[in-house]
Amino acid sequence: MEAKRIVVIGGGPGGYVAAIRAAQLGARVTLIEKDRIGGTCLNRGCIPTKTLLHDAKLLRSLKRSPLFKFNLPHPSDLLKSMMERKERVVDELVKGIELLLSSYRVEVIRGEARFLNSEQVEVVKEDKERLILKGDTLLLATGSTPKTFPPLLPDREKIMTSDDALELQEIPKEMVIVGGGYIGVEFATLFHTLGSKVTLIEILDRILPGVEEELVRNLRRFLEREGIRIFTGSSVEELRPDGRSLSLKIKTAKERMEIRCEKVLLAIGRVPNIASNLTQIGIKNTPQGINVNPYLETSLPGVYAFGDVIGERMLAPLAMEQGIVAGENAMGFKRQWKRPSIPLCIFSYPEIASVGLTEKEAKERGPIKIGRFPFRSNPKAVLSGEPEGWIKVIASQEEETLLGIHILGPEANILASLALTMMGGKVREFTRFIQAHPTLPEALKEACLDVDGLAIHLPKPLRGRA
Ligand code: FAD
Repeated sequence: MEAKRIVVIGGGPGGYVAAIRAAQLGARVTLIEKDRIGGTCLNRGCIPTKTLLHDAKLLRSLKRSPLFKFNLPHPSDLLKSMMERKERVVDELVKGIELLLSSYRVEVIRGEARFLNSEQVEVVKEDKERLILKGDTLLLATGSTPKTFPPLLPDREKIMTSDDALELQEIPKEMVIVGGGYIGVEFATLFHTLGSKVTLIEILDRILPGVEEELVRNLRRFLEREGIRIFTGSSVEELRPDGRSLSLKIKTAKERMEIRCEKVLLAIGRVPNIASNLTQIGIKNTPQGINVNPYLETSLPGVYAFGDVIGERMLAPLAMEQGIVAGENAMGFKRQWKRPSIPLCIFSYPEIASVGLTEKEAKERGPIKIGRFPFRSNPKAVLSGEPEGWIKVIASQEEETLLGIHILGPEANILASLALTMMGGKVREFTRFIQAHPTLPEALKEACLDVDGLAIHLPKPLRGRA
């Protein structure tokens, strides 16, 4: 029997994972990518930002360590080396994915694809040659791009998107970041650590909407204490060049003011890449994303869409997991996509990681209990020189079922994986485990013990528990 032909548009984490999964199941797969394999995640998102943040964190640790009295290199030289390393990391990982695809005999075509109908795709290759490809099933994973709107229009020079900020060769003296989501907060952390004077402007009344409020309030205090200026409930009314700098008119909750800076970074969200002709060929969509049913199939039977382009939560692990579901359904399975619980990690200093329900969400479901434990009382955090932050554990009042775990502190991203495995279990089950010493998971155990006021490394509680 002839193998099923599948055409995938977009080689980001959604598209390449779907291509591999369909190939594992025996399909002949063609993947079309107009840029580099790896998409936003590898080339302009997760990997480059976290590589730079990793190096900046090292710099921060060296600066803070009492052991080293280095004459640190000039920030611009440092940025150059960091950018070079970032390029090497990205290249290595992109090559790795290309090798993976070729090992599965996925044919990769470099070019821009356009849907003609439910079976045919036109591709304009880099050398302008045009191809018409036919597939039994088409998979659409075209991702997203930075959102912009007047007066916040990037010129790629002084007014940047995250794509441009990842290519900077000089550290700006002053930078205004518009948007206090995780991308804005991570860039604020990065450029502040490298020596820029950073101002963060967020239109909502808090940064990091959706993340546990108490932790975010604490993170904001840390960031402000370090010198990052944060204005919430504030918006940019005007943005214009002023000699060699930029001038911004800002409306805050209390007043109107003017800020001058060298660069503005727009981090006001992302929009799905939806081709203009999709509606004509019967693929329904809204500005938020392509509409899909629980099987990730679009309104055009035999065409699946997933990842950022469907506009759910725009995160790489979701795009990858949806890629697996869509790849399997394209091969005849009937797998439903169910929105999973995944850790949300923000790579600020200190880091944030959240799993499960926030306090507000949990209270809406019924009475709760809360345990807290500060990293200052955890030997591993103290000996690593990172005692800032704490863990908050939320459990149901009666059964003490774990509903949410929120971490502000060192290696929160790793602790989050452990937290994920604990969700839905009972607090007392986790308190029975003996953790290695000295480690950060000990803090997680103590936070669980604190749900009943029993944490050993906290003073005796004076009042009743939350
Ligand atoms: P994309 O990765 O955007 O891939 C889509 C691909 O389709 C692109 O390569 C594009 O060139 C190609 N394409 C589009 N149209 C066509 C066409 N017509 N023809 C051919 N090819 C086409 N997520 C996390 O989980 N963790 C993080 O730490 C994180 N950090 C981020 C930091 C930044 C600065 C940004 C911007 C994003 C970050 N993300 C992070 C989000 C993550 O990168 C995305 O959610 C993820 O890349 C989405 O994958 P995707 O495959 O849906 O789309």
